[in-house]
Amino acid sequence: MKLVSACLIGISCNYRGESSYNEEVFEEFKTGNMYPICPEILGGLPTPRAAAEIRYGSSSDVLDGKARVVTREGEDVTDALIKGAYMVLEIARSIGAKEAVLKARSPSCGCGKIYDGTFSGNMVDGDGVTAGLLKRNGIEVMTDNDV
Ligand code: SF4
Repeated sequence: MKLVSACLIGISCNYRGESSYNEEVFEEFKTGNMYPICPEILGGLPTPRAAAEIRYGSSSDVLDGKARVVTREGEDVTDALIKGAYMVLEIARSIGAKEAVLKARSPSCGCGKIYDGTFSGNMVDGDGVTAGLLKRNGIEVMTDNDV
C-alpha cells in the first residue's frame, strides 16, 4: 500500500481549493493500492487557505524546531503542518505503507525541491514537512514528477 497526496487524485484540497489532478497517479489509485492523505487538512487548516512556504530551512529544520512555515502575510502555520505530518506517519504505520507519491513543491508534500520561503518562485533543495518526516522513518517518497 502507498500513500498518495489527495490533491493528485482529484480531491479539491489544495490551498486554492482546487485539485492537482494527475492522470497517471489516478490510474494507479484505481488499482486500490493507494491511500489518500492531505497533511494540511489533517493538521487542521481550512480549504482554501493562504499559500505557505518553509522560511530559511528544510523539513528537518522545521521538525527540529529550527525553522518555521509561514504564509505570505506572515501567519505561522508550523504547528499545523507538523501535526499533519505526524498524523500521516501514524496512518502510514497503521496501513503498513512503505512508499508515498506526494505532490511536488508543497511545503508539506514536496520532495527534493521546495520553494525558498520568499514567495518569489525560487526553488531550493529540500523536502516538505510530511515528506521529510516519512523519509526519516524509512518510507520511500516520490513526487508526481517521478510518476
Ligand atoms: Fe496536496 Fe499535500 Fe497540499 Fe494536501 S498538503 S493539498 S495533499 S500538496
